[in-house]
Amino acid sequence: MSIAFNDLGRHVATMAEEIEAASTRVLRSGWFVLGPEVRAFEAEWAEYCGARHCISLATGTDALILGLRALGLQAGDEVLTVANAGSYTTFATHTVGATPRYVDVDPVSYTLDPSQLAAAITPRTKVIVPVHLYGQVADLSAILAIAADHQLPVLEDCAQAHGARYQGQHVGTFGALATFSFYPTKNLGALGDGGAIITNDDALAAQIKQLRTYGWSSKYQVTIEKGTNSRLDELQAAILRVKLAHLDAQNARRQALAARYNAGLAATPLQCPQLNTAQHVQHLYVVRVAADQRNALRQHLQAAGIGSDVHYPIADHQQPAWAERYQDVSLPITEALSNEILSLPCYPELSDAEVDQVIDCIQAFFAD
Ligand SMILES: *Cc1c(COP(=O)(O)O)cnc(C)c1O
Repeated sequence: MSIAFNDLGRHVATMAEEIEAASTRVLRSGWFVLGPEVRAFEAEWAEYCGARHCISLATGTDALILGLRALGLQAGDEVLTVANAGSYTTFATHTVGATPRYVDVDPVSYTLDPSQLAAAITPRTKVIVPVHLYGQVADLSAILAIAADHQLPVLEDCAQAHGARYQGQHVGTFGALATFSFYPTKNLGALGDGGAIITNDDALAAQIKQLRTYGWSSKYQVTIEKGTNSRLDELQAAILRVKLAHLDAQNARRQALAARYNAGLAATPLQCPQLNTAQHVQHLYVVRVAADQRNALRQHLQAAGIGSDVHYPIADHQQPAWAERYQDVSLPITEALSNEILSLPCYPELSDAEVDQVIDCIQAFFAD
């Protein structure tokens, strides 16, 4: 039996009736943008996370862009972030005219290494953006302490960490603001694009609300210069409300799958993720394999009908579009990881037997 890397058909089938009922409700309401479903979802997501405000948006990338804009970022400013998280923060930083400055990552958690953070701060630094990558929570106390020392705001990118906690508190509530994506494959995903910002800051929330609708303070009155159109549809909000009720159970299942993988792969040469089920939500299950074995292992899996992927194969500072600007940048851990990481199937609908099949296949690879 083949095992897809991800299977969204199987995912939505587990709640098809609820999703159909929510969709029908929106169709019959005749209200499709910024209506009751969006308001309800925003209230529910803010409450779930323990934040005062949630402002829903069209995508997670827009959340980063509007978040940076609301924090006042402009040309000449620098954003301190990581280079191993799929380039989203880099896009957003360029969009607001600022420049990314990259900090290497911790070799165990793959998140921003706080021991290298202070040295990377310059007079131009305006914000620190840690990413809770693969559902693993960044070392927030160390990052927040350094940020406070330098009076810099922290923007948490939580696009891969819906429901993750740090010291018992939901991620996204530690910094000045936090961004989420509801892209279909995320732990909480719509059936299309979606995103949000959460914050406890009333002024930031009011500003982001204006930014998402053309900079309007009231209808047709533009009072903020750099507004745009970035909204979550009523239909997606209604679907997200259905799926939110399943998030904790699905995260628990992801954690169980990751624990099963870790136990089954312990005797192989793979470096498995460090699991802390109280905090992490295992958006992706990522192992580390010797660079010269990665392709062979992927092919071995593929031959057995098992999907795998790499998140992400090219670090931001090495992307062809930007590499020239970063010729002098060296990020040894980030660069090594991009050649050694491998993502294995890890989604709530996978059965234990399927995970065992992946484990057996990997054990056979190393036994040969
Ligand atoms: C998915 C993702 C984003 C961007 O979200 P979109 O909704 O696809 O724009 C941002 N940051 C991280 C870490 C992501 O995984």
